[in-house]
Parts: sequence; structure tokens; C-alpha cells
Amino acid sequence: MTEPARRPDPPERMCPSTSAANATVFLGMISPAGRVAYVTPQVPAEVALAVPVEAGTPVEARYRLAGPCITSSCGFWTGDHCGLGARVVESYREVADPAEPELPKCAIRRTCRWYAEQGPAACPACSHVVTDAR
Ligand code: SF4
Repeated sequence: MTEPARRPDPPERMCPSTSAANATVFLGMISPAGRVAYVTPQVPAEVALAVPVEAGTPVEARYRLAGPCITSSCGFWTGDHCGLGARVVESYREVADPAEPELPKCAIRRTCRWYAEQGPAACPACSHVVTDAR
């Protein structure tokens, strides 16, 4: 008797706006204008975390960090998708420039949670996100 073919596991999804404690990838830097300058090809989070930031400034206000999506252990998880990604795309839609250029070069698109769930609309919205905007 032959075993039924086993489906390959889906790829691990990456959270594109995670804390330093969960970070594995240095996704980008926040420009003075509040836009994300994406770092490609992929660079480990340790590279960003090794650069000192001003005292009192959280690293998540200077850099965008990505790490494994922790699904139900995250307050944004709705049960079947990332509520933050959905919210970011929805609120950006109201101010989006229809002439927004092509998708930014990004090191995690293949596994990005927001891109997988929201499609290409996630990327222009993502480029305006500061993880810790206090
Ligand atoms: S939303 Fe788009 S630009 Fe942002 S991390 Fe995901 S794939 Fe990259």
C-alpha cells in the first residue's frame, strides 16, 4: 500500500514589523521623512541591533525589523490573519497616491505575512509604518 502524498508545509510567515526581541531580519531604516528605506539583499537583524541609537529612543523607532510571525501569541492575530496588516492597508488606501511607483525591493516578500494576506497593496502601505512611533 502506498502512502498518500504529503503536502509540503507552507513557508514560515514573517512579520514585517516586529520587536527587537523577535527580530531575525534587518528589514529597513526609517528615513527622516518617515519612509522605510528597505535593505536588500537580506541582512541579519543583529547588524541593525549592533548600531547604537540615541538614549531613550527605541530601536523600533529607527529601524524596521522582521521576524517569525507568532500568530496567536500576538495581540494583532485575529484567528486567521494579521489584523495589523489589514488595518495598515485599509488606512493607507484613504491617502494612497494612485501613481505610487512599483513595489519596493524588499528582502522578505516571499514569506511576508502582510504580502501573503493583503497582496501588493501591502507594500506601499508598509513603507510608511514605524513599528514604535511613540
Ligand atoms: S509588506 Fe511588502 S514591502 Fe513590506 S515587508 Fe512585506 S513584502 Fe516587504
